[in-house]
Amino acid sequence: MSQGLIVRGRIIRDAFSPVGKEHALVIEQGTIKKIGLFEQIKKEFDYPVIGNKNSIVIPGFVNTHSHAVQTLFRGAGDDLELLDWLNQVILPGEASINAGQVYTSSLIGYAEMLFGGITTTNDMATVRHAEQTIKAAIDSGIRGNVGKMLMDRNTIEGLIESTDKAIKEANQLADRYPKGKRVQFAYTPRFLLTCSNELMQRAKEESNKRGLLFHTHAAENISECEEVRKSTGNEYIKAYQDLGILGDKTILAHCVWVSDAEIEIIKETGTTISHNPSSNGKLASGIAPVPKFVQKQIPVGLATDGSPATGGHDMFLEMKLASYYQKAVTHDPKVMDARSVFHLATLEGARALGMEDEIGSIQPGKKADIVILDPVYPNAYPMYNEFSYIVYTATKRDVSYVLVDGKPVVDNRQFHIDLSKQFRLAEEYAREKPWIK
Ligand SMILES: [Zn+2]
Repeated sequence: MSQGLIVRGRIIRDAFSPVGKEHALVIEQGTIKKIGLFEQIKKEFDYPVIGNKNSIVIPGFVNTHSHAVQTLFRGAGDDLELLDWLNQVILPGEASINAGQVYTSSLIGYAEMLFGGITTTNDMATVRHAEQTIKAAIDSGIRGNVGKMLMDRNTIEGLIESTDKAIKEANQLADRYPKGKRVQFAYTPRFLLTCSNELMQRAKEESNKRGLLFHTHAAENISECEEVRKSTGNEYIKAYQDLGILGDKTILAHCVWVSDAEIEIIKETGTTISHNPSSNGKLASGIAPVPKFVQKQIPVGLATDGSPATGGHDMFLEMKLASYYQKAVTHDPKVMDARSVFHLATLEGARALGMEDEIGSIQPGKKADIVILDPVYPNAYPMYNEFSYIVYTATKRDVSYVLVDGKPVVDNRQFHIDLSKQFRLAEEYAREKPWIK
């Protein structure tokens, strides 16, 4: 956009800098140009202003693991354990949806993320019609790494593919959505049990060649880990290491059940982690040892997973649970304090995706992915500390503006495109429940 914009409020540059009260930032051509006192900025730049002196201006949240395409199954598989949940609802559901439904499901998912202040996501589409999910990401305005789900064994008809076909289609999409685009491709094999060694290894090689992310699940649930031990004779992370798929540009979702030796492997190889507390809670998977990851300086971000696994895409909920679960299990109230958790939801999440030079904090030269919270509801009063408010108190309702590349995709709580048709199609799908047939 050629027109510039001024964003006014209390500027939270990152988790550790002082809050810039009476400040503003200037956006030009989608980039943060300058931060300063509002009165000076206003004299220097003749641009429209959004926000007011009470607004809280934060970097957009970075979601390190999601399945926007699962939105149509939200509420269809509640109160089930991981493998039952997958086999009874999610996999048959993913096999059932046609191209138009993939688009609808994904667009609603991305819109929900944006409404809640998530400006970047790291997403897994499904096996079929992955390009419709990529198209939905582009149309929604979100920044993303989006991958076609890869599976060549142990899964249902309709989702299983030959190794060659899976890699060929992934490569075609990777060529069409290369590194550097707002929505770029990622290689996303589902997890060890549904992917042959060859599929995993070829996906890693192709992602390396193109500088794209390699994103998969790991050690989410105890029975899954037992199955992996039966099939490989190894602990999960060791099995991945033996395949040669860990390292730079590999991000593992979950890592709930990892031993100290496995954490060491993650650290040594430069692999990163996505922590999904609400999903691990709702699916009864467990609580990941996040303080150990942080202590080892392993890059770890927060994530919303799929809405059937969590209820929805809500980074405010993930921040609360990331903090509260650890306090509850360690009996240490100091662990995962508000600033540390905010750091995981923003700059550390960007680091886990290898994007920390572009996004994750408010800094001149970075992309203008900005969220404004307007503390106008009772939950905001009084406010001793902005970080306490953002992490422990605020909800998605408090988000009033969301900018990606400086463009308002949520503008005074209004989404930039009409979603009513998509809502109608989602209700039709839910009435038909085609995966049960
Ligand atoms: Zn997942």
